[in-house]
Amino acid sequence: MNLRPLKYLLILCTSMISPLLFASETAEQAPGTTAWVNACKDWDDWDKPGPPFKVYGNTYYVGTCGISALLITGEEGHVLIDGGTEAGASVIAENVRALGFRLRDIKVLLHSHEHFDHVAGLAELKKMSGARLFASADAAPVLASGVVSDKDPQANMHDAFPAVEVDAVLNLAEPVVLGDLRLQAYATPGHTYGALSWQWQSCEATSCVNLVYADSLSPVSRDDYRFSDHPEYVAAYRRGLATLSELDCQLVLAPHPSASKMRERLLSQGGLLDQAGCSNYASTVLDRLDARLEKERLSSD
Ligand SMILES: [Zn+2]
Repeated sequence: MNLRPLKYLLILCTSMISPLLFASETAEQAPGTTAWVNACKDWDDWDKPGPPFKVYGNTYYVGTCGISALLITGEEGHVLIDGGTEAGASVIAENVRALGFRLRDIKVLLHSHEHFDHVAGLAELKKMSGARLFASADAAPVLASGVVSDKDPQANMHDAFPAVEVDAVLNLAEPVVLGDLRLQAYATPGHTYGALSWQWQSCEATSCVNLVYADSLSPVSRDDYRFSDHPEYVAAYRRGLATLSELDCQLVLAPHPSASKMRERLLSQGGLLDQAGCSNYASTVLDRLDARLEKERLSSD
Protein backbone atom coordinates (compact mmCIF):
# COMPACT_ATOMS: atom_id res chain seq x y z
CA MET A 1 0.00 0.00 0.00
CA ASN A 2 1.42 3.33 -0.94
CA LEU A 3 -1.28 5.89 -0.33
CA ARG A 4 -0.59 9.42 -1.34
CA PRO A 5 -0.87 11.71 1.64
CA LEU A 6 -1.21 14.78 -0.58
CA LYS A 7 -4.34 13.54 -2.25
CA TYR A 8 -5.79 12.17 0.93
CA LEU A 9 -5.25 15.40 2.78
CA LEU A 10 -6.74 17.52 0.07
CA ILE A 11 -9.86 15.40 0.23
CA LEU A 12 -9.82 15.53 4.01
CA CYS A 13 -9.48 19.28 4.04
CA THR A 14 -12.20 20.10 1.59
CA SER A 15 -14.76 17.59 2.71
CA MET A 16 -14.44 17.27 6.43
CA ILE A 17 -12.86 20.27 7.99
CA SER A 18 -14.42 23.67 8.23
CA PRO A 19 -11.72 26.34 8.18
CA LEU A 20 -13.83 28.30 10.66
CA LEU A 21 -13.07 25.66 13.21
CA PHE A 22 -9.49 26.87 13.33
CA ALA A 23 -9.98 30.57 12.80
CA SER A 24 -9.77 31.37 16.49
CA GLU A 25 -6.87 29.02 17.08
CA THR A 26 -3.75 31.01 17.67
CA ALA A 27 -1.16 30.74 20.35
CA GLU A 28 -2.20 33.34 22.89
CA GLN A 29 1.28 34.26 23.83
CA ALA A 30 4.13 32.01 22.92
CA PRO A 31 6.48 31.97 25.87
CA GLY A 32 10.00 33.12 25.22
CA THR A 33 12.97 30.86 25.03
CA THR A 34 14.43 32.01 28.36
CA ALA A 35 12.16 29.70 30.32
CA TRP A 36 13.36 26.71 28.30
CA VAL A 37 17.02 27.62 28.64
CA ASN A 38 16.59 28.00 32.40
CA ALA A 39 14.68 24.75 32.79
CA CYS A 40 16.77 22.51 30.54
CA LYS A 41 20.44 21.54 30.33
CA ASP A 42 22.46 20.22 27.43
CA TRP A 43 21.86 16.50 26.78
CA ASP A 44 19.13 16.59 29.41
CA ASP A 45 16.83 13.76 30.51
CA TRP A 46 14.55 12.45 27.80
CA ASP A 47 11.39 12.63 29.93
CA LYS A 48 12.12 15.87 31.78
CA PRO A 49 9.38 18.45 31.16
CA GLY A 50 10.53 21.71 29.60
CA PRO A 51 8.33 24.66 28.65
CA PRO A 52 7.25 25.03 25.01
CA PHE A 53 8.44 27.97 22.95
CA LYS A 54 8.00 29.51 19.55
CA VAL A 55 10.81 28.53 17.17
CA TYR A 56 9.75 30.74 14.28
CA GLY A 57 6.38 31.82 12.90
CA ASN A 58 3.96 28.90 13.19
CA THR A 59 6.64 26.42 14.37
CA TYR A 60 6.80 25.57 18.07
CA TYR A 61 9.09 23.40 20.17
CA VAL A 62 6.83 21.17 22.28
CA GLY A 63 9.29 18.43 23.23
CA THR A 64 10.91 17.59 26.55
CA CYS A 65 14.26 18.94 27.72
CA GLY A 66 16.08 16.04 26.05
CA ILE A 67 13.91 15.01 23.09
CA SER A 68 12.49 17.30 20.43
CA ALA A 69 8.94 17.41 19.14
CA LEU A 70 7.77 20.14 16.79
CA LEU A 71 4.28 21.52 16.28
CA ILE A 72 3.61 23.31 13.02
CA THR A 73 0.26 25.05 13.14
CA GLY A 74 -2.01 25.70 10.19
CA GLU A 75 -5.37 27.13 9.30
CA GLU A 76 -6.83 23.68 8.69
CA GLY A 77 -5.06 21.79 11.44
CA HIS A 78 -1.63 21.14 12.82
CA VAL A 79 1.27 18.79 12.18
CA LEU A 80 3.30 17.21 14.97
CA ILE A 81 6.72 15.74 14.20
CA ASP A 82 7.86 13.11 16.71
CA GLY A 83 6.20 11.86 19.85
CA GLY A 84 9.05 11.38 22.32
CA THR A 85 9.18 8.42 24.69
CA GLU A 86 6.09 6.79 26.17
CA ALA A 87 6.37 9.11 29.21
CA GLY A 88 7.32 12.06 27.02
CA ALA A 89 3.96 11.94 25.20
CA SER A 90 2.13 13.54 28.13
CA VAL A 91 4.78 16.28 28.35
CA ILE A 92 4.28 17.02 24.65
CA ALA A 93 0.48 17.03 25.04
CA GLU A 94 0.71 19.41 27.98
CA ASN A 95 3.05 21.71 26.03
CA VAL A 96 0.66 21.83 23.07
CA ARG A 97 -2.16 22.81 25.43
CA ALA A 98 0.03 25.35 27.25
CA LEU A 99 0.53 27.15 23.93
CA GLY A 100 -3.24 27.47 23.58
CA PHE A 101 -3.67 24.81 20.90
CA ARG A 102 -6.03 21.86 21.02
CA LEU A 103 -4.78 18.30 20.66
CA ARG A 104 -7.71 17.40 18.46
CA ASP A 105 -6.58 20.02 15.94
CA ILE A 106 -3.40 18.01 15.32
CA LYS A 107 -4.34 16.21 12.11
CA VAL A 108 -1.01 14.69 11.04
CA LEU A 109 1.75 12.90 12.93
CA LEU A 110 5.19 12.47 11.36
CA HIS A 111 8.47 10.99 12.55
CA SER A 112 12.23 11.44 12.43
CA HIS A 113 13.67 7.95 13.01
CA GLU A 114 12.06 4.80 14.33
CA HIS A 115 13.66 4.44 17.75
CA PHE A 116 11.65 4.50 20.96
CA ASP A 117 13.01 7.83 22.22
CA HIS A 118 11.31 9.61 19.28
CA VAL A 119 8.30 7.46 18.40
CA ALA A 120 7.20 5.52 21.52
CA GLY A 121 4.84 8.38 22.44
CA LEU A 122 3.10 8.42 19.06
CA ALA A 123 0.54 5.75 20.04
CA GLU A 124 -0.68 7.83 22.98
CA LEU A 125 -0.58 11.11 21.01
CA LYS A 126 -2.55 9.49 18.20
CA LYS A 127 -5.14 8.35 20.69
CA MET A 128 -5.38 11.82 22.26
CA SER A 129 -5.53 13.74 18.98
CA GLY A 130 -7.14 11.37 16.49
CA ALA A 131 -4.46 12.45 14.00
CA ARG A 132 -3.32 10.30 11.10
CA LEU A 133 0.21 8.95 11.16
CA PHE A 134 2.34 8.91 8.04
CA ALA A 135 5.59 6.94 8.00
CA SER A 136 8.40 6.08 5.64
CA ALA A 137 8.31 2.63 4.04
CA ASP A 138 11.07 1.31 6.32
CA ALA A 139 9.75 2.93 9.49
CA ALA A 140 6.11 1.83 8.98
CA PRO A 141 6.54 -1.84 10.02
CA VAL A 142 8.65 -0.81 13.02
CA LEU A 143 6.00 1.67 14.21
CA ALA A 144 3.23 -0.84 13.58
CA SER A 145 4.99 -3.55 15.62
CA GLY A 146 6.91 -1.54 18.20
CA VAL A 147 9.98 -3.64 17.45
CA VAL A 148 13.19 -2.28 15.90
CA SER A 149 14.13 -3.90 12.60
CA ASP A 150 16.76 -6.68 12.58
CA LYS A 151 18.79 -4.78 9.99
CA ASP A 152 18.96 -1.65 12.16
CA PRO A 153 22.53 -0.90 13.34
CA GLN A 154 21.07 -0.66 16.85
CA ALA A 155 18.91 -3.82 16.60
CA ASN A 156 18.46 -5.54 20.00
CA MET A 157 19.72 -2.48 21.86
CA HIS A 158 16.27 -1.04 22.52
CA ASP A 159 13.19 -2.24 24.37
CA ALA A 160 9.99 -2.65 22.43
CA PHE A 161 7.59 0.31 22.49
CA PRO A 162 3.81 0.71 22.08
CA ALA A 163 2.80 -0.21 18.53
CA VAL A 164 0.86 2.43 16.63
CA GLU A 165 -1.31 2.16 13.53
CA VAL A 166 0.29 3.74 10.47
CA ASP A 167 -2.36 5.33 8.24
CA ALA A 168 -0.25 5.68 5.12
CA VAL A 169 3.26 5.08 3.84
CA LEU A 170 4.83 8.29 2.60
CA ASN A 171 5.69 8.82 -1.01
CA LEU A 172 8.82 10.93 -0.58
CA ALA A 173 8.44 12.39 -4.07
CA GLU A 174 5.52 14.45 -2.82
CA PRO A 175 5.19 16.85 0.09
CA VAL A 176 2.77 16.28 2.92
CA VAL A 177 0.11 18.95 2.52
CA LEU A 178 -2.43 19.98 5.14
CA GLY A 179 -4.29 23.17 4.31
CA ASP A 180 -1.68 25.90 4.11
CA LEU A 181 1.09 23.64 5.46
CA ARG A 182 3.51 21.87 3.17
CA LEU A 183 6.31 19.68 4.51
CA GLN A 184 8.88 17.89 2.41
CA ALA A 185 10.51 14.68 3.65
CA TYR A 186 14.04 13.59 2.73
CA ALA A 187 15.39 10.09 3.27
CA THR A 188 18.36 10.42 5.60
CA PRO A 189 19.22 6.89 6.71
CA GLY A 190 22.11 6.47 9.11
CA HIS A 191 20.60 6.01 12.52
CA THR A 192 17.89 3.81 10.99
CA TYR A 193 16.76 2.67 7.54
CA GLY A 194 13.51 4.62 7.72
CA ALA A 195 14.96 7.88 9.03
CA LEU A 196 13.54 11.12 7.65
CA SER A 197 14.55 14.76 7.77
CA TRP A 198 11.90 17.41 7.15
CA GLN A 199 11.87 20.82 5.49
CA TRP A 200 9.13 23.46 5.56
CA GLN A 201 8.70 27.20 5.54
CA SER A 202 7.49 29.39 8.39
CA CYS A 203 6.86 33.11 8.21
CA GLU A 204 6.80 36.05 10.59
CA ALA A 205 5.40 39.34 9.29
CA THR A 206 7.14 39.69 5.93
CA SER A 207 10.07 37.32 6.43
CA CYS A 208 9.94 33.60 5.73
CA VAL A 209 12.60 31.03 6.59
CA ASN A 210 13.14 27.43 5.60
CA LEU A 211 13.31 25.21 8.63
CA VAL A 212 14.91 21.79 8.56
CA TYR A 213 14.45 19.08 11.16
CA ALA A 214 17.60 17.08 10.45
CA ASP A 215 17.54 13.55 11.79
CA SER A 216 20.05 12.10 14.25
CA LEU A 217 22.75 10.90 11.92
CA SER A 218 25.63 9.80 14.12
CA PRO A 219 26.95 6.31 13.27
CA VAL A 220 25.82 4.53 16.43
CA SER A 221 25.47 0.74 16.56
CA ARG A 222 25.62 -2.35 18.68
CA ASP A 223 29.15 -3.66 19.31
CA ASP A 224 29.26 -6.33 16.60
CA TYR A 225 27.81 -4.19 13.79
CA ARG A 226 30.10 -2.91 11.06
CA PHE A 227 28.83 -0.18 8.73
CA SER A 228 31.47 -1.29 6.20
CA ASP A 229 29.68 -4.64 5.87
CA HIS A 230 26.71 -2.74 4.40
CA PRO A 231 28.03 -0.70 1.47
CA GLU A 232 24.57 0.07 0.07
CA TYR A 233 23.46 1.44 3.41
CA VAL A 234 26.61 3.56 3.68
CA ALA A 235 26.00 4.87 0.14
CA ALA A 236 22.43 5.86 1.08
CA TYR A 237 23.77 7.39 4.29
CA ARG A 238 26.18 9.54 2.26
CA ARG A 239 23.45 10.53 -0.20
CA GLY A 240 21.25 11.69 2.68
CA LEU A 241 24.08 13.78 4.12
CA ALA A 242 24.77 15.34 0.72
CA THR A 243 21.07 16.20 0.36
CA LEU A 244 20.99 17.71 3.83
CA SER A 245 24.05 19.85 3.28
CA GLU A 246 22.54 21.33 0.11
CA LEU A 247 19.06 22.09 1.42
CA ASP A 248 17.74 25.62 1.45
CA CYS A 249 17.91 25.95 5.22
CA GLN A 250 18.08 28.91 7.56
CA LEU A 251 17.16 27.16 10.78
CA VAL A 252 18.12 23.61 11.69
CA LEU A 253 16.78 21.55 14.57
CA ALA A 254 17.44 17.93 15.49
CA PRO A 255 15.64 15.15 17.41
CA HIS A 256 18.15 15.50 20.25
CA PRO A 257 18.18 19.29 20.83
CA SER A 258 21.85 19.35 21.80
CA ALA A 259 22.86 17.64 18.54
CA SER A 260 21.95 20.90 16.79
CA LYS A 261 23.40 22.97 19.67
CA MET A 262 19.88 24.30 20.25
CA ARG A 263 20.47 25.56 23.79
CA GLU A 264 23.76 27.17 22.85
CA ARG A 265 22.12 28.95 19.93
CA LEU A 266 19.15 30.07 22.06
CA LEU A 267 21.66 31.69 24.39
CA SER A 268 23.62 33.32 21.58
CA GLN A 269 22.87 36.70 20.15
CA GLY A 270 21.96 35.39 16.71
CA GLY A 271 19.38 32.99 18.14
CA LEU A 272 18.33 29.90 16.22
CA LEU A 273 18.76 31.30 12.72
CA ASP A 274 21.89 29.99 10.99
CA GLN A 275 22.41 29.96 7.22
CA ALA A 276 25.13 27.33 7.52
CA GLY A 277 23.31 25.20 10.08
CA CYS A 278 22.40 22.30 7.78
CA SER A 279 25.73 22.10 5.97
CA ASN A 280 27.68 22.28 9.25
CA TYR A 281 25.44 19.61 10.76
CA ALA A 282 25.95 17.34 7.73
CA SER A 283 29.72 17.83 7.60
CA THR A 284 30.11 17.08 11.32
CA VAL A 285 28.24 13.82 10.82
CA LEU A 286 30.20 13.00 7.68
CA ASP A 287 33.45 13.35 9.64
CA ARG A 288 32.10 10.97 12.26
CA LEU A 289 31.02 8.46 9.63
CA ASP A 290 34.43 8.57 7.92
CA ALA A 291 36.17 8.16 11.29
CA ARG A 292 33.94 5.20 12.10
CA LEU A 293 34.64 3.50 8.75
CA GLU A 294 38.37 4.10 9.20
CA LYS A 295 38.24 2.56 12.66
CA GLU A 296 36.45 -0.49 11.23
CA ARG A 297 39.06 -0.78 8.46
CA LEU A 298 41.92 -0.67 10.96
CA SER A 299 40.29 -3.22 13.23
CA SER A 300 39.92 -5.67 10.36
CA ASP A 301 43.60 -5.48 9.34
ZN1 LIG B 1 17.49 9.32 19.78
